Amino acid sequence: MSDGKIENEQAETKYKYSFEYIQKKLEGKKDSFGKLMKEIIRTGICTECGTCAAVCPVLEWDPIAAQPKLIGKCTGCGICYNQCPRTITDPVQLIGEFKTGYVSNTNIPEVIGGQDGGTVTSLLCYLFDEHLIDAAIVTMKNPKKPWYPTAQIITTKEDAIKASGSIYTHSQTVDALMEAIRRDYRSIAFVGTPCNINAVDKMMNSPSGMLRYFMRANILKIGLFCMDSFAPESLYPMFEKDGIDLSKIVKMDINKGKFHLYENLDGEPVKSYSISSLHKYKSSSCNFCTDLTAENADISVGSVGSGNKRNTVFARTGIGAEIMEDAAKKGYLIIEPYTAINLNAVLNLAKLKKVSKYNIQKRKVFIVRDADEEEEMKIKSGPVSEQTKIIMDTRTPFSVKKELNETEKKLNLNVTNTSGFTLENLQFRIATIDDMFESNPWVTTIKELFPYEEVEINYPIEKLEGSVLFEAYSKDFGKIYSKSLKFAPKKE
Ligand SMILES: Cc1cc2nc3c(=O)[nH]c(=O)nc-3n(C[C@H](O)[C@H](O)[C@H](O)COP(=O)(O)OP(=O)(O)OC[C@H]3O[C@@H](n4cnc5c(N)ncnc54)[C@H](O)[C@@H]3O)c2cc1C
Ligand code: SF4
Ligand code: SF4
Ligand code: SF4
Repeated sequence: MSDGKIENEQAETKYKYSFEYIQKKLEGKKDSFGKLMKEIIRTGICTECGTCAAVCPVLEWDPIAAQPKLIGKCTGCGICYNQCPRTITDPVQLIGEFKTGYVSNTNIPEVIGGQDGGTVTSLLCYLFDEHLIDAAIVTMKNPKKPWYPTAQIITTKEDAIKASGSIYTHSQTVDALMEAIRRDYRSIAFVGTPCNINAVDKMMNSPSGMLRYFMRANILKIGLFCMDSFAPESLYPMFEKDGIDLSKIVKMDINKGKFHLYENLDGEPVKSYSISSLHKYKSSSCNFCTDLTAENADISVGSVGSGNKRNTVFARTGIGAEIMEDAAKKGYLIIEPYTAINLNAVLNLAKLKKVSKYNIQKRKVFIVRDADEEEEMKIKSGPVSEQTKIIMDTRTPFSVKKELNETEKKLNLNVTNTSGFTLENLQFRIATIDDMFESNPWVTTIKELFPYEEVEINYPIEKLEGSVLFEAYSKDFGKIYSKSLKFAPKKE
């Protein structure tokens, strides 16, 4: 045998060995080429590095499609997925660093309204009893507007118990924190969603952070896991339309892909919605959020990964771990060790969140219509509800930019959805206004327009100076926009 052949065979054996070794390591992980296609290639974030094709015997690089191509049977071993520079496979990248984890629940009989295991409320009770804090920032229901959040400074454990439970909306907790510091509270527990925790962390640690040099206080950051929150101005009216009396609801809960509403803490939900059906009510910022587990908190608390009425807890800092251990020792919490957490469940959800932003493509919809096309030339307008008026008085649903294309005799309108949520079954109508009469009306329907998604309309005009009427009608909100837009050639 020639030396070259031996070397080749050795290299082949080494390659086969490492392929099989990693295959074993990844067993049961369910990563596959399909996942690589879905998360990386179809979302357009593939760097075309070709690594996936280079490591797999049944993949080759397709230079025309500029993507890997299967040329044999995929075993679903996940090797390609785990080499790709764009996938997230390291647990630390998914849930951040932590010292130790627990499954925990309250050991305080008064904590009956805890969202899951009542861990956060019990920790606050412990911190007040032990005089470790002089105030805490929590989020309570606004007494005048059921289920609207109000961030509060509290100073007693009784108020901590009253504040228990989750409100699935944004809450301006940092404003309450600043107020507490101004009032000279110096040891403060701050409870917040990951975005709130990140704000405080930045204020405490970034070179130009307000809480780093000025207004100093000891702040214990208790982070809540968070997959998404909703815009109350649109979600709650929908609930009400569905016959729900929000003042009677005592608990809202997201569990296994469903949003449940309860009138009784121990009873069955009075109404449940699939989370996917509520997507359009999601706060727009949550579409771009990648932190599930409050990676910058001292203690992060959630429900995924632990059973019913229990919490998954990550103590990330030394002080966080000490507090958890001492609260359990002093009888405020019942804790089980890290191994009790179903870590895969947490990692899978964290992954879903890290990659979700890849699915948001800033689409641009072009509408280039022939004005002679036969279509319904009037948009359906129904009565506008009181709620619509409130929403549309407080939000600008669209940003409309116009540009005159003198050569092509077209008025280009760039319409961006600035409402903050997905608008479904939208109808846009444009018509030329000539001496108070309308002519050349265009009507077009758009199935869904994501937050900040843009539509470009190229509307033909007869004269280079004049005005058009632009109107929008939404299935959910009725007529939501009507504006007359003047146009004229630019002056030299
Ligand atoms: C918007 C949102 C989304 C969430 N999504 C998930 C998820 O996808 N997966 C998961 O495992 N867990 C999620 N959680 C966390 C979960 O709902 C519980 O808050 C967490 O498990 C702690 O439970 P607990 O029983 O210890 O809470 P409790 O003892 O009841 O204490 C909850 C504390 O949270 C505070 N709070 C309530 N609403 C807010 C708010 N909007 N902003 C800031 N603070 C608030 C309350 O003041 C209270 O102090 C979410 C929470 C929120 C607020
Ligand atoms: S067989 Fe190849 S394509 Fe299929 S998962 Fe394994 S490495 Fe990827
Ligand atoms: S390894 Fe990932 S980034 Fe590289 S070509 Fe394959 S899919 Fe694209
Ligand atoms: S999903 Fe992100 S941005 Fe939205 S509330 Fe939760 S932590 Fe904040």
